[in-house]
Amino acid sequence: MMFQAPKQLMDKIYHFAKFPQTGVSLQQMVQFGRNPSQGVLLKASQFISEELPVRLARRVVELDNVPHELNKMPSVIRVKNWYIESFKDLIEFPKPNLPSGLKARLKAAAKSAALKSLPAAHPNPSVSYNHQSQYCAVPMSHRFYTPVEDIDLPPDISRYNHDFVRCLEKIKSRHDGVVTTLAQGINEFKAKKNHRIIDTDVQSFLDRFYMSRIGIRVLLGQHIALHKKGDTDYVGIICTRTKLRDVAMEAIANASFICEDYYGLFSAPKITLHCPDGLEFMYIPSHLHHMLFELLKNSLRATVELYGPDVDEYPPIKIIVAEGQEDITIKISDEGGGIPRSELSRVWTYMYTTAEAQPLDPNFNQTDFKAPMAGFGYGLPISRCYARYFGGDLKLISMEGYGTDAYLHLCRLSDSAEPLP
Ligand code: ADP
Ligand code: MG
Repeated sequence: MMFQAPKQLMDKIYHFAKFPQTGVSLQQMVQFGRNPSQGVLLKASQFISEELPVRLARRVVELDNVPHELNKMPSVIRVKNWYIESFKDLIEFPKPNLPSGLKARLKAAAKSAALKSLPAAHPNPSVSYNHQSQYCAVPMSHRFYTPVEDIDLPPDISRYNHDFVRCLEKIKSRHDGVVTTLAQGINEFKAKKNHRIIDTDVQSFLDRFYMSRIGIRVLLGQHIALHKKGDTDYVGIICTRTKLRDVAMEAIANASFICEDYYGLFSAPKITLHCPDGLEFMYIPSHLHHMLFELLKNSLRATVELYGPDVDEYPPIKIIVAEGQEDITIKISDEGGGIPRSELSRVWTYMYTTAEAQPLDPNFNQTDFKAPMAGFGYGLPISRCYARYFGGDLKLISMEGYGTDAYLHLCRLSDSAEPLP
C-alpha cells in the first residue's frame, strides 16, 4: 500500500513551499563550524530545522506537479513520499526547551554577529522572513548560520543536539536511493509513453531537482559531520586544504580499475596528471572525486572503444590543472574520437547514453565508486550540477574524429552564493 499523505500535511507543505530558501556559502559553513561548541550546534540545528522543511516542501510541490503525468509514476511517488516523511519528521521534532532569558541572549548574539559579518557594501540587507512570518532585518542564514560566542546552556541542550543529529541521519539515509529511484520513474514513464527523448520541461525539472538535492545533502552532511571530531583540515565535510593531486590520483585509480574490470584489460589507457605542486583549496573532496571519476570513465571508455581491447598501447588521457586567481581549471583531454557536433548538446540530458543501458539498482548509491563504467547517462549532467553548485562549471569541446576536452572550472572564491532552484 502506498503511503497517502493526509490533506492537512499536504496543505502545510504547500504553505512552506511559498517561503524563500536561504543559501549558505562554503565560506559561511567553514566560519561557522570551526569551533562546534554546543551553542554553535544549537544554532545550526535551529537554522536547519527552519531551512530544511522549506527546501523539502518545494521539492514535494515540484514532484507533485511534474508534467506529462510523470508525477503519476510509482517510483516518482515513492521519492515524493520520502520528501513528505522527512518534512514531517522535521516539523514534528520537539523544539528545545530554552529559558526565555537565554532565547533573548541567543537572538541578540546572533544579531550582532550577523551585523558584523554582513559585507560593508550592503548596509541595508534585504528583508527576509521565516515561515512563521516573523520579519527579521537580516537574511535567515545570517541569523542562524553565524558564529556565536559560547553561552552557558542548560545541560539538556546537548541531548537535544544529539537527538536532532540522529533525526538528520535518518533523513539522509532515507534519501540515499533518490537518484536511482527517480531514474526508475523516468524509465516507467518512457515505457508507458513510449517517449524516446525526454522533453526540456522534464530536463530542467531534473536539473533543479538534483541541484537542490546536492544542497540539502551538503546541509545534512555538514551538520552531521560537525558532531564528529576529526581531521584538523576538515570543517564538517569541507576540507579547507583539499589537495587536488591526491583527489585526482584516487579518481585515476578508481576509474582505471573499473575500466580494466569492465573491458577485461590487463591495463587501462594511461592517465597523466600535470598539476602545480602543493595546490590546495577549500572544497568538498567527495564532490571533486565524483566529477573527476565520471569524466575519466568517459574518456577511458571512448579511448578503449575507439582502439578496441587488443592494442598494445592507447593514446594517454591527460589531466592538466591550471591555477588562476578566480578559478582552478582542470582539463581532461582524450583521443577517443570525440562526439559529433549534432550530439553534443544531448550529452547533458539525463539518461542520454551511447552505452548499453545498465539495470537500475535502487539500493545502489550514486556516490559509491563501485559505479558502473557507463550506461546511466547521468555522469555528465550530475557532474555539471556538482560543479555549478559551488559556482563552477563543466564544458565539453569535441573534435570529431580525434577526441574530447572536458573543462572543469572550480571557483576559488568560496563565497559564491548557493544556487537555490
Ligand atoms: P554514460 O557514461 O553513462 O553514457 P554520461 O553522461 O557520462 O553517461 O555521458 C553521456 C554520453 O556522452 C556517453 O554515453 C558518450 O556517448 C558521450 N561522451 C561523454 N564523454 C565522452 C568522451 N570523452 N568522448 C566521447 N564521448 C563521450
Ligand atoms: Mg559516463
